Amino acid sequence: MSYIIYPLFLIFILVSATLCIVFNLDLDIGFACITSTISVFAILLEKIFVYRKDWYVSKHDTYVDVLYILSDTFINNITRSLMFVFIAYIASLDLPKLSVLSEIPFIFAISTGVLIGEFFPYLYHRYCHKGNQNSKVSMFFWRVHSIHHIPQKVYWLNNFRLHPIDVCFNTLGTLFPIMLLGANQEVLFCVGLLSTMHGFLGHANINIKLGFLNYILLGPDLHRYHHSKITSEALNFGTTFTLFDILFRTFYYPKNKEVSSVGVMEPLSYPMENKFNKQILFPFFFEKYVAKRSF
Ligand SMILES: [Zn+2]
Repeated sequence: MSYIIYPLFLIFILVSATLCIVFNLDLDIGFACITSTISVFAILLEKIFVYRKDWYVSKHDTYVDVLYILSDTFINNITRSLMFVFIAYIASLDLPKLSVLSEIPFIFAISTGVLIGEFFPYLYHRYCHKGNQNSKVSMFFWRVHSIHHIPQKVYWLNNFRLHPIDVCFNTLGTLFPIMLLGANQEVLFCVGLLSTMHGFLGHANINIKLGFLNYILLGPDLHRYHHSKITSEALNFGTTFTLFDILFRTFYYPKNKEVSSVGVMEPLSYPMENKFNKQILFPFFFEKYVAKRSF
């Protein structure tokens, strides 16, 4: 069963996305329906085919997860709206227009869009993990992204635990370059759906195995290592595909070794898992915060 769950999810996404496009449905509504349906199934599967029982969700987790879902949705929509306004402004200027992605066949436009939409978040994610103590900018971005790594368990809903700045950069990195290249609504829909669903699946506390597909796709087998407390294991920075991790030597897949503990090193230097407000403020006031926690 563990090898069937991932293909079933993928087939459902592909079929439902195709139906939305073929029947000319509202893609925003389609996106919300597909992601909600899959989320409900995934949360149920986390109870039936659980990967680790010590990663079960508590009431406190759900409360913070819901706050993050609301915050992510708000920031994502604002960022997308601003991008559309900016693209419309560029289109109104008397400049040579880039429309590569609207001129090639749909399947190539999606493939190219997915690859480009994967590349910039990969670079951003890798930079966030650099944590260069000699650079204020580097440490700021690590603190922004560290919010995602504070939980000491990995499950479907904690995929949403992202600082608003993280959401903004990820949305920009995934969609803005392909919008500039002339991607239409259908391409944006497919790229966004694939990237979002892989973010979800990567965190699922379901006993999903991808087998040989782990060399192509970034599922939970690989993404759990990314959440490891051990820095040498915390690789696999991609979202959907392993391509850039393999190309830039950040691919980590020790087949016979499960991830041991996840979270951040020195958790006392970070806000607690259930402190939403402190996590949001953490990148800006970390010195004050760390000084307070030391007592
Ligand atoms: Zn990360």
